[in-house]
Amino acid sequence: MGLIDTHAHLTCEELYPQVDDILKRAQDANIERILCICMNQKELERGFALQERYNFIDLAFGYHPSDLDTLSKQDWDYLNIIATDERIKAIGEIGLDYHWGDIEREVQKKAFIEQLQLANKCNKPVLIHMRDATGDTMQLLKEYKQTKGILHCYSGSVETAQEAIKMNMYLAVGGPLTFKNARGLPEVMAQLPLNRILIETDCPYLTPHPHRGKQNEPMYMVHTFEKLAAIRQMDQTSLMNELKKNYFELFR
Ligand SMILES: [Zn+2]
Repeated sequence: MGLIDTHAHLTCEELYPQVDDILKRAQDANIERILCICMNQKELERGFALQERYNFIDLAFGYHPSDLDTLSKQDWDYLNIIATDERIKAIGEIGLDYHWGDIEREVQKKAFIEQLQLANKCNKPVLIHMRDATGDTMQLLKEYKQTKGILHCYSGSVETAQEAIKMNMYLAVGGPLTFKNARGLPEVMAQLPLNRILIETDCPYLTPHPHRGKQNEPMYMVHTFEKLAAIRQMDQTSLMNELKKNYFELFR
């Protein structure tokens, strides 16, 4: 009986050197399963190795909009071949990020569409990164997405969430739910249908209060979970059960 972290970058440069200690601490904190997001070939190979040693790691693979300028044709060929591998549960994270403005929007859209189509072809859920790009992201999801998916690190409105739910999406909430400047997020999370909610860390980023500022890791997700239980006015065991049910429903 435990929690599932639905978005962790365990194989990134920051976390991977300490991954065994991190996973030990996660298990001690009652994190029973982790969806590990791999963003390049090197990270995915680490992910495969991790899966050999631990039986509670799921893997996702895809190209993040902010990494597109680092990719070669070879990287795209690799993704297209490996995507069908049964060890990979989902395609992601993929999406649009207009926050930084360093990668052209048209380039991002093209890569996003390609990966949505790949997910359709493999019949795998998509994990969506959407930052300052709600309109275009929702539009492309409507046009191209056929599989289920997660809007990761959700911080949008109830209306956008409802639109996403109609498209067979889940909303995953992370550390920002615990922040003092969480703005409307707690109210949004109070209103969404419980059967579409998931939680995540997005570690090493977005560490929940009261550890904000430290490097994030799965064990800190308990703070997000406790906050969500308070917002939903639910006892922790029932909420844990529901969140778990949602995850297995999505990846059924
Ligand atoms: Zn991420």
